[in-house]
Amino acid sequence: MTRQEFASQIRYQDKRFNRAFFIWTMVVGLWMVGGALLDGLLNWGGSTVFRQAYLIFGIILFVVYLMALVGSGVLRGVPCRHCKKRLFGIPGQIAVATGNCGYCGEKAFE
Ligand SMILES: [Zn+2]
Repeated sequence: MTRQEFASQIRYQDKRFNRAFFIWTMVVGLWMVGGALLDGLLNWGGSTVFRQAYLIFGIILFVVYLMALVGSGVLRGVPCRHCKKRLFGIPGQIAVATGNCGYCGEKAFE
């Protein structure tokens, strides 16, 4: 892998991650705000079934969101050839700038 390929790989991965992160944050955020608004509009205080279903689905959504965040650390970035740690964010930028892995210091690409 050349420096150019390595840099574009990292950029592509970061962009994809940022977009997914943004979309998920929007979905979870809207769900929470939407719940508060619907609660006020429909007065779910009368019937707790809808409110509970909404809440449970919201919790599931949030757990999936957290799992996706944790999982993204495994799937994100480009793995180092030596230590196999995934390079993204600051270690990824170090690798692009210096050619060496931000974790183990070995050459990250040819
Ligand atoms: Zn390394």
